[in-house]
Amino acid sequence: MKRIPIAGPWITQHEIDYVQDAVAHGWYDKAGDYVDRFEKAFAAWVGVGHAVTTPSCTSAIHLALAAAGIGPGDEVVVPELTWIASAAPIDYVGATAVFADADACTWCVNPETVGVVLSERTRAVITVDLYGNVAPSREIAALRDDLFVIEDAAEAVGSTRDGARAGSLGAVGVFSFHGSKTLTTGEGGMLVTDDPRLHERCLFLRDHGRAPGDKSFFNQEVAFKYRMSNLQAALGLAQLERVDELVARKREIFGWYRELLVDVPVTLNQEEEGVASSFWMVTALLEAGVDRDRVMARLGESGIDTRPFFHPLSSLPALQDRGEAVRARVRNSFAYELAPRGLNLPSAASLTPEQVERVCVALREALES
Ligand SMILES: *Cc1c(COP(=O)(O)O)cnc(C)c1O
Repeated sequence: MKRIPIAGPWITQHEIDYVQDAVAHGWYDKAGDYVDRFEKAFAAWVGVGHAVTTPSCTSAIHLALAAAGIGPGDEVVVPELTWIASAAPIDYVGATAVFADADACTWCVNPETVGVVLSERTRAVITVDLYGNVAPSREIAALRDDLFVIEDAAEAVGSTRDGARAGSLGAVGVFSFHGSKTLTTGEGGMLVTDDPRLHERCLFLRDHGRAPGDKSFFNQEVAFKYRMSNLQAALGLAQLERVDELVARKREIFGWYRELLVDVPVTLNQEEEGVASSFWMVTALLEAGVDRDRVMARLGESGIDTRPFFHPLSSLPALQDRGEAVRARVRNSFAYELAPRGLNLPSAASLTPEQVERVCVALREALES
């Protein structure tokens, strides 16, 4: 039997047509046309003034921190439970990452867990919309009037909180279009903001320290090369034109799981009051004491791919030796309680109801044995 994949996109003839057009015609006077169209359409769809394409979400976070002038001596708060990409750019700019605990119900950070780690040196907070849920970024920004909030909506394209789209809730929002994400360009990312000066600074830093349209090639600063190719933007625009369908499919897949797992002792992704999740990854939290890794191994033997919940960042070999990680391991008890109990179930856009049923039967059996 075919293995059931954990993640993957939904590509139609529409995407193929756009990419074909870009590769055949997207040069000379048309070079960059799809980039412009993708950025404009994405900004309008998120409900913000400006959007800037990037090669990845990681580079979008780096660009946001650099554009805000964050650097050595500054602290940036980031969730304990997230992909390392949310935190690594803090190191790139020479600032100090501080890890905030998770909310036991939403798995995101909340105003309390961020509030306890704020210091005189805190310049920014990176909130993460984990697995499609939407963190209370506005409430976190309101903790103090000098906080620069970057909403990492890499996993939450199409999610909403109080009617506003994920990515529009901070000073900056960032997205990933990696092949595993709900909307894909293969690799790619986007930075969105309502701030025209920040937007301009990002455009300048994205292209080796020169303004858009510069023809003098006389660079003002050493900066980055963080542009997306027109070919990828063609794929992104086509996916964006189908985004409602892509998000509806994710919600449908989550609905199948919810129904089939109703009497299985697991807790699935929670939607807080006012939040609509796009359920990037269906995530099951097992009861305390169940051997999660054994359950994952059993599913693997049945041809079902799963992933462990994000490990606490302060537990990773890459980060564990710094002083902040030592403090975080003592402080962040919810994250350390949640992480070893969670696994992501297959959530690819290509899943059929029969495959989801196979996953649920196998999960039930693994938990009963
Ligand atoms: C996928 C992901 C990223 C990184 O995206 P890239 O495009 O691979 O750089 C960042 N943050 C979160 C929360 C992610 O899930």
